[in-house]
Amino acid sequence: MSSSVLTAVAWPYANGPRHIGHVSGFGVPSDVFSRYQRMIGNRVLMVSGTDEHGTPILVQADAEGIAPMDLADRYNRVIVDDLQGLGLSYDLFTRTTTRNHYAVVQELFRTLHKNGYLVPKTTTGAISPSTGRTLPDRFVEGTCPICGYDGARGDQCDNCGNQLDPADLINPRSKINGEAPKFVESEHWFLDLPALADSLGDWLKGRSGWRPNVLRFSLNLIDDMRPRAMSRDIDWGIPIPLEGWQDRGDKKLYVWFDAVIGYLSASMEWAARSGEPEAWREWWTDPNAVSNYFMGKDNITFHSQIWPSELLGYRGEGAKGGEPGPLGALNLPTEVVSSEFLTMSGSKFSTSRGTVIYVRDFLRDFGPDALRYFISVAGPETQDTDFTWEEFVRRTNFELANEWGNLVNRSVSMAFKNFGAIPRPGTVTDADAELLRTAHAAFDTVGADLARSRFRSAAGEAMRVVSAANKYISDTEPWKLAKDPAQADRLATVLHTSLQVVSDANALLTPFLPHSAQSVHELLGGGGVWAAQPEVREVDDLVSPSLPEGPVGAGLPAEGRSYPVLMGDYAAEKAVWRRTEVQPGTPLSKPTPLFRKLAPELGETGPEWAPVDK
Ligand SMILES: [Zn+2]
Repeated sequence: MSSSVLTAVAWPYANGPRHIGHVSGFGVPSDVFSRYQRMIGNRVLMVSGTDEHGTPILVQADAEGIAPMDLADRYNRVIVDDLQGLGLSYDLFTRTTTRNHYAVVQELFRTLHKNGYLVPKTTTGAISPSTGRTLPDRFVEGTCPICGYDGARGDQCDNCGNQLDPADLINPRSKINGEAPKFVESEHWFLDLPALADSLGDWLKGRSGWRPNVLRFSLNLIDDMRPRAMSRDIDWGIPIPLEGWQDRGDKKLYVWFDAVIGYLSASMEWAARSGEPEAWREWWTDPNAVSNYFMGKDNITFHSQIWPSELLGYRGEGAKGGEPGPLGALNLPTEVVSSEFLTMSGSKFSTSRGTVIYVRDFLRDFGPDALRYFISVAGPETQDTDFTWEEFVRRTNFELANEWGNLVNRSVSMAFKNFGAIPRPGTVTDADAELLRTAHAAFDTVGADLARSRFRSAAGEAMRVVSAANKYISDTEPWKLAKDPAQADRLATVLHTSLQVVSDANALLTPFLPHSAQSVHELLGGGGVWAAQPEVREVDDLVSPSLPEGPVGAGLPAEGRSYPVLMGDYAAEKAVWRRTEVQPGTPLSKPTPLFRKLAPELGETGPEWAPVDK
């Protein structure tokens, strides 16, 4: 029976192009997972978009002398192109500055407020003494009061992972100009996390299959659940949908309150765009649906604490009770899959330090599948991992080109040269049968890994089939059989077996290498779309008809805007997670190499445009 699977992918922040560190955390793993789920026949909804509110965009737009929406428009478009180039198969990749998103966020706020989980509190906020403007939390730096780390930010300490308030910091200073901030009183809406702590704890304790570090980290957060501010002194964001608040220009919802709701608003937008406005409920209010959230480790808190707490409060399942809001009892995450960091020379990729490799540069020179493969087999799945050009060149040349590309190339070209078509097999020997068995069994082993987001192991198992097939060809020496007319029947069997295993391995590698999988499908004489790719579509703004009301307040995005989204026709693709028998007599043509081998020097120097990691 097919299941409904929501793939909820972290929202990239629209303040610049994506670098390969970003897409190794959220992008490639979530796409490999989704493509596998579609191949086994599940109904996948993969959603995300650009996260466009919050202070960094405001500060950057100020510095350029443009409106924050103009900056967001620019980088939304850049990021859409980056992700499309990488072949990430979003059902919808949208953005947070849509009227639909505003309306969904405001609906969640209203019900959380009605159920009593949003409470007003007066708090002290930082302002810049020289400009009089609010200094947002993450623009205040100082020493962490919990662990003593000196580079802690006002919102969070990256060393111990605790959430902070800027007023907690020892020796606070402004990141913008170094001055000591002044703290003034301000009224805000707080999510009553203590009232949700018990139900959150019960939910977390019932989780199984999570990566142990994620579960341990999340359970630790339960011990110190304090009310958390969900509004900010800022003029760029979603209006607070309450009388006396919604028309204020100086107070908006906190960017993280709205960003996590994007998974829901994007699902609703996808349904409205697909002509079945209520279709989102299949993934959100059917308790049998599963949802997998993909992100880098710096975002675990928001996905295993803040977002589930918002959902529990919306369902009326905290200590204060309440009723589910008009959208219904929304599903909590089934699994939170977090990656560690891809680093360069031990440091996080950083635009300011110049240690950064942009996705678009990478794609232009090396194509999407080499990067997807590298991230899958050598990425930061369970620990921080250094990117080196040496390793990239080694994986590309020895694994993709020499192992997989060469297997495809020699199998297809020998069959083409000797038969012009897929040959009809004769008597099958033990060696033939064993290779076929190995390839067939891999659908179970690789599938089991992919279902649990064990991508490195899955890719390794798939490549073992490729190695076994290469060994089989070396052992059976079809080039020698081809010289002896008495061996024609044996040659046909060997090449038929090889082509069948090429077809099997191609299916096993499709989630990792969807672009070259399409080429191999065609080399084997297949027609139509094997692995579908996302398309950039220009769409007009809309608001989901499932909502009780549209967006309200001051500073809404204009009606009738158009913007680019990623969508795709994945239901039409032919890729399936099982053996497809190759058909004798199918005409073949001369293959061209699947992967280009890279110059060995590249491993030492990197390309001209990239920083050197030595
Ligand atoms: Zn700390």
